[in-house]
Amino acid sequence: MSGKDLTPVEFLDTILVPEKKTDHVCWQCKYFKPVLKGSSFPPADIIGWCKKIHWPFFWVVPEKYVIKKCYAFEAKK
Ligand code: SF4
Repeated sequence: MSGKDLTPVEFLDTILVPEKKTDHVCWQCKYFKPVLKGSSFPPADIIGWCKKIHWPFFWVVPEKYVIKKCYAFEAKK
């Protein structure tokens, strides 16, 4: 697949590189906003934020508690 065949979501995945890799189901969810590589702002145990649960406030997704199932999960692709 060449670059011009990517959807906007797939393209963002190629340039927004996450800081961590875990088994959270959130990585495949369209509501997940990951902490990006090189970012020094968030606490070290955070892999990202959920944009759905507790909206309009972001729910922090911790590295330690691996979420494998979620009632609000929606696949991003
Ligand atoms: S809706 Fe659930 S699976 Fe999706 S990012 Fe939020 S916590 Fe993760």
